[in-house]
Amino acid sequence: MLASPHPTETTEVVVVGAGQSGIAASAHLTRLGIPHLVLEKADVADRWRHGRWDSLVANGPAWHDRFPDMEIPGVGPDEFATKDQMADYFGAFARSVDAPVRTGVEVLSVSRREGASGFLVETSEGTIAAGNVIAATGPFQVPVFPRIIGGDLVPHQIHSAEYRNPDQLPDGGVLVVGAGSSGAQIAEELRAAGRQVHLSVGPHDRPPRSYRGRDFVWWLGVLGKWDATAPDSDHVTIAVSGARGGHTIDFRELAAAGITLVGRTEASAGGALRFADDLQRNITAGDANLLELLAEADAYVEANGLDLPEEHELHELGPLPDCVTDPVRSLDPRAAGITSIIWATGYVQDFSWLRVDAFDGAGRPAHLRGVSTESGIYFLGLPWLSRRGSSFIWGTWHDAMHVADHIATRRRYAQYAPSAQTSPPSQAPSRPAQQLLEEISR
Ligand SMILES: Cc1cc2nc3c(=O)[nH]c(=O)nc-3n(C[C@H](O)[C@H](O)[C@H](O)COP(=O)(O)OP(=O)(O)OC[C@H]3O[C@@H](n4cnc5c(N)ncnc54)[C@H](O)[C@@H]3O)c2cc1C
Repeated sequence: MLASPHPTETTEVVVVGAGQSGIAASAHLTRLGIPHLVLEKADVADRWRHGRWDSLVANGPAWHDRFPDMEIPGVGPDEFATKDQMADYFGAFARSVDAPVRTGVEVLSVSRREGASGFLVETSEGTIAAGNVIAATGPFQVPVFPRIIGGDLVPHQIHSAEYRNPDQLPDGGVLVVGAGSSGAQIAEELRAAGRQVHLSVGPHDRPPRSYRGRDFVWWLGVLGKWDATAPDSDHVTIAVSGARGGHTIDFRELAAAGITLVGRTEASAGGALRFADDLQRNITAGDANLLELLAEADAYVEANGLDLPEEHELHELGPLPDCVTDPVRSLDPRAAGITSIIWATGYVQDFSWLRVDAFDGAGRPAHLRGVSTESGIYFLGLPWLSRRGSSFIWGTWHDAMHVADHIATRRRYAQYAPSAQTSPPSQAPSRPAQQLLEEISR
């Protein structure tokens, strides 16, 4: 659909999406006095409210997983907020900064204006002219799962984005594919509800939930790992949990609780599920990652003369369970009683609505710290946008600060006129907005 050339409204910045990234952008734009609108197709922090399973809690403690300016009401600093507490928090924060959010408004397309500066933002409620657009539509937008297992073999197959609780699944056993934070937590919950569970474990990191009295988010901070600017070439999913007050994901414990660990799910063939011969390798690589972090933490304690209690138990991994040393490679789901598969296999992004020159040859956003290759287009909340922390709450806060500052700087250039021609800023709309208004009324 082509954007209507006749916008009914103009603003300097349209922020698309009112999750944590869009709200952070709004807070910084307001601080800098930049007029803007936040357009949200659902509700503020809707993915926290409606896009997660019922028992999800934040993966980091409340002192860490929040914006710097406001604490999470009713949640102690070392506690883990529930998903609804997180959604309430972002709603309260948005109100506290008077974020100009319009909910229930979907952005259908953004395209550059012809013969005029800025962009046409076509929405479900009309067309808006904007000098800048910030795409804050989320790191995890469209669930993906490989369609490698036929529905005739296991009829009930959902993505982790659709999982809510064990009661939603038909009776019987469950194969959970993917053992990052989502897959491992969902598998634990299903097992605790009495289900037979197979967990398909790919390559992963599994940091300790806490070590020597400090949560792993603290360790990532002091060791400078949140600030890593690019993933290692062998970067893999991270398994860690805030559930039940927070705990380390230990695949030996999951096996001891009755979960059958299997390798990466490869396909189905001849009425059976097939698993790769990589389970032991994945488990031992995850163990090595844990031990490496413990060693780095110990070195940090030593180097800085800290008095943190020693914690030897975490170094003692214990023997590998039988399901790892003698893994199941092929499984008839009917004989094993598996009636559901939950694919915890991640997400991709969809920017098909953003019809501008801000993408690389592979269709990925082309940007530097969120400032795209198309002047006036910005991204927020993407994984590794500027650093490891970028898709997390505090990380997007800092990225939003940078993006808002960039817009403010461009605005100062646009507003500049030699001193004799300068009009007092308080009496006139900024120059880009003025230009847009003139063009619209033409
Ligand atoms: C299971 C899970 C657990 C997580 N736990 C944590 C955690 O504990 N701590 C942490 O820091 N991070 C966590 N994250 C990562 C991240 O914080 C969340 O994904 C968070 O929701 C991202 O916020 P966001 O604002 O960038 O994007 P989103 O929350 O995805 O918000 C994007 C918004 O844009 C809207 N939107 C999309 N397209 C349009 C459009 N065309 N027009 C208008 N609106 C649109 C959507 O409705 C949505 O509300 C978790 C992620 C997942 C998947």
